[in-house]
Amino acid sequence: MQTNLPADFIATSAGQRANEILRSCVHCGFCNATCPTYQLSGDELDGPRGRIYLIKELLEGGYDSTRAMTHLDRCLTCRACETTCPSGVAYGELAEIARVRLGPSRSGLNGLMRQVLRWLIPYPKRLSPLVTLASKARLVLPKQLRRYLPEPTQSKVRLPADFQSQPRQKTDGDHDAVVEALPSRQVVILQGCVQRVVTAEVNTHLQTLLAARGIKMMTVQAEACCGALDLHLGAESAALKKIKANIDALAPLVGLVDAIISTASGCGVTFKDYPRLLADDPEYAEPAVAVAGLVQDVAEYVATADLDLAVAQKGIKVAWHPPCSLQHGQQVTGVVEELLTRAGCELVPVADAHLCCGSAGTYSILQPARAKALREEKLEALQKQSPDVIVTANVGCQTFLAQATPVAVRHWIELLK
Ligand code: SF4
Ligand code: SF4
Repeated sequence: MQTNLPADFIATSAGQRANEILRSCVHCGFCNATCPTYQLSGDELDGPRGRIYLIKELLEGGYDSTRAMTHLDRCLTCRACETTCPSGVAYGELAEIARVRLGPSRSGLNGLMRQVLRWLIPYPKRLSPLVTLASKARLVLPKQLRRYLPEPTQSKVRLPADFQSQPRQKTDGDHDAVVEALPSRQVVILQGCVQRVVTAEVNTHLQTLLAARGIKMMTVQAEACCGALDLHLGAESAALKKIKANIDALAPLVGLVDAIISTASGCGVTFKDYPRLLADDPEYAEPAVAVAGLVQDVAEYVATADLDLAVAQKGIKVAWHPPCSLQHGQQVTGVVEELLTRAGCELVPVADAHLCCGSAGTYSILQPARAKALREEKLEALQKQSPDVIVTANVGCQTFLAQATPVAVRHWIELLK
């Protein structure tokens, strides 16, 4: 694709990357075939190829940015188009550059909702009391809302053994003190801001599995939101602040732990992207590479650590929903299926597994009609073989799917013992 971006924009690293990405697109349109929003509307501008044209117009300047905003806001950032693209177009990165250009503000109710979500979701101390309050009022809430809430016992789950982060630049003496405090085989678990409030039982279950195999799992008290929510909503500087806080919290553990594990693939994909996001930062670029190098989805960790896990309920029929952030974002495919099959689960076939369920971070709240239409199709595919349970690997997919099905929806690790 030919581009004509302003020279002052090309002089920036974002401009350079945008130019490279735009030029790598050959307009073939293969990506439209796997784009969920294109499949819903049939509108070229709601598919990746059309959005790439809109982004080019936006970044070249002189065009109406409202059109780009409308169609970019309808994009799930599922990155199915990246998996399909034969030219390796980094659509997710391009969309992120465009969203930063558009900024986080929107007019009307949508703008207000975005502000509330950015104020609330990344902060467990704000989210948790709200969820607790709603849990207490669960009996009077509509069924649709109740399914968002953790079961009363789940909301009380807390992980022990928090690691209090030391300052990132430490003396050798401080370093030794940390080593002494740690057992021989240990991992850090990322708690996630929504997951620790809504599905804390996932990490508690993992902790039990690991402890039974002599592996100590610890949390880091200073863990902040991974930054995904701000990034998806175009608030780059707020995202970078959170990302740097995470580097400060986790970098002291590099060399001391085997892995930093994520059980929420939506957070994991962002943590793995820290080196790209901080590439131009002289202070954080190096520690970002070190921290991200340790980050693994729990499936990758279980597979590489060769943990011998068995299914808790023999012969259970399982429908697997791979989150987009795992299959397209992290390109982790086939691993969970293999682990579950090896453990003794019966995996049922699910059509169109590459398609998003509609959850997509805050998408289900900001674009509810499209999200519900996608969920309907996803649940039809997942329920076709009458599974006993639907499993996934991200808290957003789990809670969003659970609202609309009588079938139990769990994190896949919870099936194992
Ligand atoms: S498949 Fe790739 S190269 Fe083809 S239009 Fe889509 S993004 Fe461009
Ligand atoms: S990220 Fe998903 S919704 Fe957005 S253009 Fe790509 S395939 Fe379509």
